[in-house]
Amino acid sequence: MTVRTRVAPSPTGDPHVGTAYIALFNLAFARQHGGQFILRIEDTDQTRSTPESEQAILDSMRWLGLEWDEGPDVGGPHGPYRQSERKDAYKDFAMRLVEEGNAFICYRTGEELDQLRASLKEQGINRALKECDLALPADEVEKRQAAGAPFVVRMKVPVDGVCEVDDMLRGTIELDWAIVDAQILLKSDGMPTYHLANVVDDHLMEITHVIRGEEWINSAPKHKLLYQYFGWDMPQLCHMPLLRNPDKSKLSKRKNPTSILFYKRMGYLPEALLNYLGRMGWSMPDESEKFTRDQMFENFDIQRVSLGGPVFDQEKLSWLNGLWIREELDPAAFAAEFQKWALNPEYLMQIIPLIQPRVEKFSDVAPLASFFLSGMMPITLESFAHKSLQEEDVRRILQFAVWHLDQQREWDRDSLFNSLKGLSDAMEFKIRDFLFPLFVAIAGTSQSVSVVDSMSILGPDMSRARLRHALDIVGGPSKKQTKAWEKEFRSIV
Ligand code: GLU
Repeated sequence: MTVRTRVAPSPTGDPHVGTAYIALFNLAFARQHGGQFILRIEDTDQTRSTPESEQAILDSMRWLGLEWDEGPDVGGPHGPYRQSERKDAYKDFAMRLVEEGNAFICYRTGEELDQLRASLKEQGINRALKECDLALPADEVEKRQAAGAPFVVRMKVPVDGVCEVDDMLRGTIELDWAIVDAQILLKSDGMPTYHLANVVDDHLMEITHVIRGEEWINSAPKHKLLYQYFGWDMPQLCHMPLLRNPDKSKLSKRKNPTSILFYKRMGYLPEALLNYLGRMGWSMPDESEKFTRDQMFENFDIQRVSLGGPVFDQEKLSWLNGLWIREELDPAAFAAEFQKWALNPEYLMQIIPLIQPRVEKFSDVAPLASFFLSGMMPITLESFAHKSLQEEDVRRILQFAVWHLDQQREWDRDSLFNSLKGLSDAMEFKIRDFLFPLFVAIAGTSQSVSVVDSMSILGPDMSRARLRHALDIVGGPSKKQTKAWEKEFRSIV
């Protein structure tokens, strides 16, 4: 048997360090067994998936040295590797399950589902919705069918009992069927859900080992049942521990930058970031902290993964990156890497059009552009002194902007401007005044090039991190104040 592993990101946002972490362990496992590693794009959520996000994922993974043997850009014998290009196949598989009596067509509306759930609760029945709850009388089905009402395809799942799932790290896991819904496999728009597409593709792509994040454990019973219904062998499952913030909560962009683009912009070496990800829950047999990708692959053993939540800590990463910078780069290599990072044409060409109108000589460039080549800004409380803004205004503006931009998905300059202008109006500030603390947070001074252009170039994670840093400097709200501000924020946006 040839070992085949895969990583299956959904292209719905910035490339996540968690994706790189899972990809690294899949790649290590495949390489250790002389097998293959596949990249599959799970873009069945058409409203949230974008080609830009897919490209950023591919670029970031390559930058880190996570190369794949088959994938949307390199092709392979099991393509296409993008689920949106495989959608007809999923429908046929869903219909096969219906014909064989393992799935059913469901005409229930969202409103009816709410009522059914409420009525189970009223009767004191504590379980998910099953086929017996969802069934409609035959004449009602006919009526809805004749009227062309929207329907979904759901899989049948046992009402009670226990499902046993084998996990490479955890042994046998037991999960109650009672909490598992009659899962939707095909949505009313004809697109498959994650569960159907994932199982069908893992089978057709001959995946032998599914190494994925712990958050998918609850999906395992449904997947096991689908393999049984189809009569296919199930790959071995391995659920990796989730990455955590230093406070042990699940790694989230609200507390810690999660985008690979942020770490690139911060000037970490890809080798060091990959090394650090390799240390998330895993260690070398001799416990050495610094190792290359190939050293990891040579010594890899999935059984050495420990399940205690690994903490992704920027300070620890910086320390490791420092080792790499000092021990692996001679001055010439340092100069070359620095040039690639700071002075590459792609980055420079975003910055120069903003800077050029404001300079008389090249020696004016560095002072104006230095914040594009920095991490957190060296700002103090005094940096925020302003003739018409009180300290309290500055704190509110920064906090509201942080909350607002946490939800911001479009990160081009116009979307950013419109969105911030909306917030400024809602908070009843003049836009000039409102933008002042943002200028200081992002560029270190208000005497700078356009702040929305700058944020768009720096990217969401770097911008959010600088705003959060600024909020720390001016002092965020107390617990009590947070409650009041949150209420106010929700009422105006
Ligand atoms: N598309 C899923 C994700 O975004 C894949 C999960 C899996 O590996 O099964 O993480």
